[in-house]
Amino acid sequence: MTVVGEILATGDELVHGAMLDTNSKLLAAELEHLGVAVQRFTVTGDAPGPMRAAIAEACQRADVVVATGGLGPTLDDRMRDVVAEIQGGPLWFDEASWQQVQGWLRQRGRPVPDSNRRQAQFPPGAEPIANPVGTAPGFAARIGRARFFALPGPPREVQAMLAASVLPAVRALPGLQPVAQSWLRVLGPSEAALGERIAPFMDPGRNPAVGITASGGLLTVRVVAAAATHAAAAAACEATAAELRPLLGDWLFAEGAVDLPALVLQRLRDRRQTLAVAESCTGGLVAKSLTDVAGSSDVFLGGVVAYSNASKTALLGVPAALVAEHGAVSEPVAAAMALGGRERFGADVAVATTGVAGPGGGTAHKPVGLVCFARADGTGARAWTVRIPDLGRTFVRDRALFEVWRALLGR
Ligand code: ATP
Ligand code: MG
Repeated sequence: MTVVGEILATGDELVHGAMLDTNSKLLAAELEHLGVAVQRFTVTGDAPGPMRAAIAEACQRADVVVATGGLGPTLDDRMRDVVAEIQGGPLWFDEASWQQVQGWLRQRGRPVPDSNRRQAQFPPGAEPIANPVGTAPGFAARIGRARFFALPGPPREVQAMLAASVLPAVRALPGLQPVAQSWLRVLGPSEAALGERIAPFMDPGRNPAVGITASGGLLTVRVVAAAATHAAAAAACEATAAELRPLLGDWLFAEGAVDLPALVLQRLRDRRQTLAVAESCTGGLVAKSLTDVAGSSDVFLGGVVAYSNASKTALLGVPAALVAEHGAVSEPVAAAMALGGRERFGADVAVATTGVAGPGGGTAHKPVGLVCFARADGTGARAWTVRIPDLGRTFVRDRALFEVWRALLGR
């Protein structure tokens, strides 16, 4: 038996294009993790008509429906009214929730406007869900065939209430099949080549299911097993992963959740090596990503963003004649940048990037997306060129960043 889930996001800001619905992504990932088969997302504005239809329909199709938004104190926050209409009864006032709302506001020295009383009103049959990090309580109710959960809009509150109240309730639903997942992280082959290698595992009906996702150049082989108990699911998952590992061989570089900059830093730390960067087209992205990792300072010494030709010479010692002869986007210049960065920071390893990020600046000879890289260590510098598809400046720079991680992981 499959427990089917649907997610509903409401808010004018979402349908007017002002704000991206990130709550649904978060909710779906957590529900899937518990073994709920999430089959649909719906996004509506604050208007009651579409909202009512979306809730009623989702609750006919799914066993679990989680909705976010529309629980604020103002009249355009209509989740509770719309659900009361569906239930065909009046809102009721919950004194305990009202005490919590007031307490939360008072603790922060805020006034308690009467309009906040709305937040302590609930549709017929609803059970309040406490909000540990905000004013708006949520609620749970049975609507149609579904267990329905309404949570406020702010992602931080969604996360807290999901963990504290919704997930424990979902876990207790009858018929839920525990699932386990393994993620095998792959660097090297194309998606197609990887797909061919593991094709026998990718039959649609297989349990554990095996699939490939590509994100920013990184490939993940995802194994998902469902079984009667969590232990059985985990064992089935591991059995398939154990069959896959030898097929993947050298391509497999990590398992589970990975953060590439953190992994790069750890590999360098293990080898007791320090790192410096010399960036042109990535404009500090490499340094930024490395310093996003707490505790990176023992490995990462620093970086230079040398964007102009003159700064490549002044800050990294790249000979002006080299730039004049080969152009700033060239392997000789990338190599000189890496060597200069390594020397000036006194690092064991340095990487350099120089490329045409676009949208302008491309030529027939050096088109947008052409990026030269170099890696320098005690044995000298090695430079190479990658032709990144011209899918926009952000894409080119993100791919360039990925190429740096790949090089630093020795792939
Ligand atoms: P409150 O008014 O108490 O904060 P609410 O339930 O009325 O709660 P909204 O007014 O709909 O929530 O949204 C509050 C904030 O949360 C807004 O900044 C909004 O952009 C953000 N938000 C709402 N829905 C989503 C969503 N689906 N994904 C990401 N952010 C969202
Ligand atoms: Mg709103």
